[in-house]
Amino acid sequence: MIFHVLTIFPEFFAVPFAHGVVKRAQDAGLIEIRIHNLRDWTSDRHRTVDDRPFGGGEGMVLKPKPIFLAVESIWPERGPGRKVLLLSAQGRLFDQAMANRLVGEAELLLLCGRYEGVDERVAEHLADEEISIGNYVLSGGELAAAVVIDAVARLLPGVLGNDSSAAFESFQDTGHGEGLLDCPHWTRPADFRGWKAPEVLLNGNHEEIRQFRKRAAREKTARLRPDLLR
Ligand code: SAH
Repeated sequence: MIFHVLTIFPEFFAVPFAHGVVKRAQDAGLIEIRIHNLRDWTSDRHRTVDDRPFGGGEGMVLKPKPIFLAVESIWPERGPGRKVLLLSAQGRLFDQAMANRLVGEAELLLLCGRYEGVDERVAEHLADEEISIGNYVLSGGELAAAVVIDAVARLLPGVLGNDSSAAFESFQDTGHGEGLLDCPHWTRPADFRGWKAPEVLLNGNHEEIRQFRKRAAREKTARLRPDLLR
């Protein structure tokens, strides 16, 4: 799967994809991440990407033209399997279900806004979807793009060591997770400062362990995320 990112801060992405699961997925050729500098599609001496908002008011707005030119040159043909996503505080909320849907695409192109945002014609006539990673305002779409790429990439077959491991994680509706939180986990030592790991996890009885984890996941979901219980 190929991820494209359009940004005015390409150097931002040197770090988020240089570690762990996403790094290994790139090394294994399972995903490719291509970072594009929006300023490459400007034609003036100052490589201007922004301008003042019509109607007045605070801040600057990213101009439509460089963004349209960039997308049209990255993808001369759009076609199925290619989706343009605009990161935006005003977008539909990104969640595990959306990640599961996006992993079915061949290529994604993520547009990172800055300043007061992006000329609305990008949302209306260029992006397939406008998506938000949460009900708060970030300074730019770069962090949000990194979040979306990480969450989608780890769902690709072969990216996580064990093919089924994503199915058992929080929010995952496809496996045994039922869309609840993951069960809590413990590791050695069994007794840490007098706080003991649950005995049942140490006894090697797989059916009991399975039952315990199911109960523990439900209990934790009810306590911290009752909204997830139907
Ligand atoms: N004026 C806008 C915020 C602009 S923040 C508003 O009030 O809605 C600048 C950029 O950061 C946005 O264009 C978007 O790309 C990104 N951004 C901010 N919050 C975001 C969020 N919750 N999810 C995804 N992207 C976000």
